[in-house]
Amino acid sequence: MRVDVDIQEEDVDGDYGLVPGLRLTCQECGHWVLVCGTSDKSPRRGAILLREQCPDDNFYDVDYWL
Ligand SMILES: [Zn+2]
Repeated sequence: MRVDVDIQEEDVDGDYGLVPGLRLTCQECGHWVLVCGTSDKSPRRGAILLREQCPDDNFYDVDYWL
């Protein structure tokens, strides 16, 4: 089913220290993931991660975040 995702900008631990990134939180179960970068591709990468990790089989629409 389609689930909303809360997207917050957050500094993320990257290979070279803290870098700007995003935290995506599943509004269904509260599971969250971090992705490096804040480009328009970052939310989609996060959505894929969430889909893999969230216990539910959800579809995440993150295209609103640009
Ligand atoms: Zn979830």
